[in-house]
Amino acid sequence: MKALSLLALLPTLAVVAVLASSTCGCAPAGETLTPLEAGTIGLPPGFELSAPWEEGRRHRITKAYGVRGHVGTNRPTHSNDLYALDFNMEQGEPVLSVADGRVRYAGPASGGWASYGNIVLVEHGQGVSSLYAHLDDVGVSAGDRVARGGQVGTAGDSGGSFGAHLHLALYKDVKLADGPGGTGPYGGTSVLPEPFGETRRVGLTAGQCIEAEARREAGHFPW
Ligand SMILES: [Zn+2]
Repeated sequence: MKALSLLALLPTLAVVAVLASSTCGCAPAGETLTPLEAGTIGLPPGFELSAPWEEGRRHRITKAYGVRGHVGTNRPTHSNDLYALDFNMEQGEPVLSVADGRVRYAGPASGGWASYGNIVLVEHGQGVSSLYAHLDDVGVSAGDRVARGGQVGTAGDSGGSFGAHLHLALYKDVKLADGPGGTGPYGGTSVLPEPFGETRRVGLTAGQCIEAEARREAGHFPW
């Protein structure tokens, strides 16, 4: 049965590999497909995202989700980064909010969350929040309004990081711990950074490139 299901998925995988290599010259997708897990959800229909970096730049996914990528659970007391993505952003490069929102927390993660380093957590409405981790500098404060494309900080390698990169996670109904146990996001569910539909069966993969310009042209769901 395993062989059969793999064969069924091969055409889709091939399409992704071609797209990844032809649009930005990065290595073709190499990670395995990631099945959806119970309890995970996509973004609300019509919810628009921008790339978390400046227009004209492109970045590669250095860690996607799946068996060799981010793993996580949807337990109510833990961070749920199952569908988080790492991008190869450079030290000091501006990190932009992926959507309009309000800053819920900006500063160092601590306690059980310390490995995130400096973080910004932004609430976007409809229960959706975004997390930007391992930042070098944090450029906003809790309560600040940010526009889509507004800068929230700069990329870095703070916390448990091995070289500068951006860790981006999307959540639905996430909570913020801020007490003796430390400061960081927990609970809720990990949100797929993808539209409903065909791509949802495939999953973003390590090696895939994302370009800010291409995303804007696409109008919505730019990944
Ligand atoms: Zn990460």
